[in-house]
Amino acid sequence: MTAYTQLGVKDIRDGVASGDFTAREVAESFNAAVASAAELNAFIVTTPDHALTAADAVDAKRARGEDLGKMGGVPIGMKDLFATKGVQTTAASHILEGFKPEYESTVSQKLWDAGAGMLGKLNLDQFAMGSSNETSYFGNVSSPWKKDGTNAAMSPGGSSGGSSSAVAARIAPAATGTDTGGSIRQPAAFTGICGIKPTYGRCSRWGVVAFASSLDQAGPMARSVEDCAIMLEAMAGFDPKDATSLQMDVPNWEATLSADLKGKKIGIPREYRMDGTDQAILDSWEQGKAMLRDAGAEIVDVSLPHTKYALPAYYIIAPAEASSNLARYDGVRYGLRDLPDGAGLQDMYAAIRAAGFGDEVKRRVLIGTYVLSAGFYDAYYTQAQKIRTLVAQDFEKAFAECDVILAPTTPTASFPLGSLNEDPLTMYLNDVFAVPASLAGLPAMSVPATVNPDGLPLGLQLVGRPFDEQGVLNAGLAIQQRVGFEAQPEKWW
Ligand code: GLN
Repeated sequence: MTAYTQLGVKDIRDGVASGDFTAREVAESFNAAVASAAELNAFIVTTPDHALTAADAVDAKRARGEDLGKMGGVPIGMKDLFATKGVQTTAASHILEGFKPEYESTVSQKLWDAGAGMLGKLNLDQFAMGSSNETSYFGNVSSPWKKDGTNAAMSPGGSSGGSSSAVAARIAPAATGTDTGGSIRQPAAFTGICGIKPTYGRCSRWGVVAFASSLDQAGPMARSVEDCAIMLEAMAGFDPKDATSLQMDVPNWEATLSADLKGKKIGIPREYRMDGTDQAILDSWEQGKAMLRDAGAEIVDVSLPHTKYALPAYYIIAPAEASSNLARYDGVRYGLRDLPDGAGLQDMYAAIRAAGFGDEVKRRVLIGTYVLSAGFYDAYYTQAQKIRTLVAQDFEKAFAECDVILAPTTPTASFPLGSLNEDPLTMYLNDVFAVPASLAGLPAMSVPATVNPDGLPLGLQLVGRPFDEQGVLNAGLAIQQRVGFEAQPEKWW
């Protein structure tokens, strides 16, 4: 494969703008890489013509001397949770198989307006529920990474597992992800790439298949902090079509990136030292502290006392919202239709939802319906909402003492596909460090930190104050520059 597939967002955009190569050459290289990496199962559908058409439009603009846009000439992967006009959008479910939206999501439209093109729709956990990309109706996604000395297919994390796998394998320079309780950060950590979930409300949810609406946020996944900053600028912005969209200007994150952390305080939350966390992860956390100190920051201890309640609260709130959001899939207006002979309306709903949803989705709908039922609402849902408030207050107090929080992204490295299937609770624990920032709606990023003794990537997480994506990106950049992460999967395409 030509060297274009080794390039990231900034290199491609700047190279196209300065005429070093054409957007078409880049798109052709990535289209070929995508086609040759089918074994990863990262894409549900590929859209090589979309990438080529967008590339040709950028090349034509350049010939006319026009502005090429923030993402001009960059082909990307689109998580199949974003509605894309005329292109199958499934949320990796059977119930939406064949669904071709009549409209484009706001985030994807913004990316096309900024000059990006689409390589295809990326696989994910079904309805974004999962941490390993094993709940997709379209099959598991493999990480391009292997545990040293073994050949077992490893999880790329989830739910944005197609995104993380494709970017790590260099079959896409960047991809969109969504994060409800860790689905950008955990897969980024598992595959040695960067991913940022912005402040809740930065990116429009319009046209994104809803999982848990009070938590869902879109964000970029790419191989560098700079690339994430560029792509987030293209994705973010007020949208009157999303009632929870932030009515704020999008800062120029790329231009104000700085790894100089003089005068900044980095908080280390003591409650994140949990039993069961890998030693290699604790070691990388120590190294992260030293790196940020080296960048000029002061390291301070902070306390987030309600951390241990965050995950249980998330697994009440997220399924509750999911059970309500997923009620729309009744087979009447779109999606799967299965009408048993002589069936009534109720039978039709039941048949369609039984056939159309996978086991994990059914588990969430059952849990969600249970915690919202009249007899249990106060015992579960109301309590979980109170905990959510306490978790947010913990962060507010901590941010009175520090500017950015540094923590591990995950308690373990990636694991072989299939190894946690029988154990949903251990699977849920993957997001123990990611969920608190989601409940509080805060910007949070994972950057590659090191590889563990098995040769698998580990990530460090940075959490910022509301709207302070810049602080998060800057601290991420300081780590990136000092880590100099050069490890690569055994193979790329
Ligand atoms: N793994 C978590 C879950 O299954 C988070 C998913 C997400 O952020 N979309 O709910």
